[in-house]
Amino acid sequence: MGIVHFIGAGPGDKELITLKGYRLLQQADVVIYAGSLVNPELLEYCKKDCEIHNSAHMDLDEIIDVMEVSVKAGKEVVRLQTGDFSIYGSIREQVEEMKKRNISFDCVPGVSSFLGAASQLGVEYTVPEVSQSVIITRMEGRTPVPARESLRSYAQHRTSMVIFLSVLGIEKVVEELIAGGYPEDTPVAVVYKATWADEKKLIGTLRDIAGQVKVSNITKTALIMVGDFLGEEFYYSKLYDRGFSHEYR
Ligand code: SAH
Repeated sequence: MGIVHFIGAGPGDKELITLKGYRLLQQADVVIYAGSLVNPELLEYCKKDCEIHNSAHMDLDEIIDVMEVSVKAGKEVVRLQTGDFSIYGSIREQVEEMKKRNISFDCVPGVSSFLGAASQLGVEYTVPEVSQSVIITRMEGRTPVPARESLRSYAQHRTSMVIFLSVLGIEKVVEELIAGGYPEDTPVAVVYKATWADEKKLIGTLRDIAGQVKVSNITKTALIMVGDFLGEEFYYSKLYDRGFSHEYR
């Protein structure tokens, strides 16, 4: 029996996969990749005779069937997912199927796009005394969001927020964030295809970001980052303070 490896491909740049993911991708007999978001350049790491499937054209049963047939034939399968699969990765339903069908699997994490986007801006979500928490969320789409997790309710914390899967509804996002409590001059960044060659970065405030997004024609594959962590104000962390003990450095 073979095995299925679920691997986080990283946000785009083909060098942002982990070494472990890279090695498993090189060895794989079968790869099922999420074609709409995974950079196809990553497939250059595969063996010549590797069998490659694009899951954009497959439903859950078809994906699991390919895994099952391959594993039973003793093959190593890689399921390559964008960013890290623990964030909007639809991995739960796949893992449950693995258990049901007695297919061995393991998981290798990846760099999520919210980390890729922060690195492209050179920012820290947790600036001392500005914000010490990050809310990762989305606006409701075809997948509902529980009412107690509304953007408006989260906005009252005025902490750092990263909003996935919502750029198409940027106007509504802005409206909800302001209604919830962020001042209109709160800094916002929209990063499209972070770490890809055609990446775009927009910087503004809640007042003007929706207009910028419309002008740039960004309708998908973007993150909305909101909060004063993007602003001018910052404080030095105690970590590298001369008067502070060094045990965490
Ligand atoms: N598991 C992925 C997220 C999948 S959901 C991760 O960890 O990043 C798909 C959404 O992720 C997109 O709609 C977009 O909001 C965001 N996304 C994925 N890759 C991105 C990238 N390179 N730049 C900006 N946003 C990205």
